[in-house]
Amino acid sequence: MNYVFPPHPVPSVAVQGESERFPVRRIFCVGRNYEEHAREMGKDPTRELPFFFTKPADAIVEDGAVVPYPPLTSNFHHEGELVLAIGKAGFNVSEAESWDLIWGYAIGNDLTRRDLQFEARDNGRPWDWGKAFDNSAVCGPIHRASEIGRLEKGAIQLTVNQTVRQKADLADLIWSVPEIVSILSRSVRVAPGDLVYTGTPAGVGPLVPGDVCVVEIDGLGKLTTTIAERAS
Ligand code: MN
Repeated sequence: MNYVFPPHPVPSVAVQGESERFPVRRIFCVGRNYEEHAREMGKDPTRELPFFFTKPADAIVEDGAVVPYPPLTSNFHHEGELVLAIGKAGFNVSEAESWDLIWGYAIGNDLTRRDLQFEARDNGRPWDWGKAFDNSAVCGPIHRASEIGRLEKGAIQLTVNQTVRQKADLADLIWSVPEIVSILSRSVRVAPGDLVYTGTPAGVGPLVPGDVCVVEIDGLGKLTTTIAERAS
């Protein structure tokens, strides 16, 4: 295959303790999946089917990244989340079958231009400008499910400059890990390389240049991101 210019390299994420990397295909994100977070967004938590939005695969940045404050926003937010890494294709899979599709787990930070997200939401526009911008998908190293087991509970916490902002348990997810994968697979054929951000607990808030944001999940270690000045 010849291209008119060199194609962008395949985005990828480190695998914990291994030299081979996880190639990223698509990034799906669940909206409002913890009750207290739904309330802080001004919505009633419900068991209506979850909704998804996406980020481009090349929005990935890894542990230790320095992320410039993004353009067009004055309300740039953190969202600490559990990320599922898909390793096997599946369409219309049951909850029981969905465990087979999960290759691993990572810690994520769904960086958000909250002002642009709300402007889009309130005007019935797509969320992309609030969610799908450069460097918006922070993802730590992926831990193999074969080593971690089925991740259904465990503490999740986010600090900014060592002050706790978000603190919850994965057991508090409105839609559980297997439910998310099963429901997503009704809409698209999920494929190896897909990442699924599972939603953030309450306590989202602003980041400013100089902040150091750390997300921790039991068994998955820590994910550190430093915010730099806006690129000129
Ligand atoms: Mn999120």
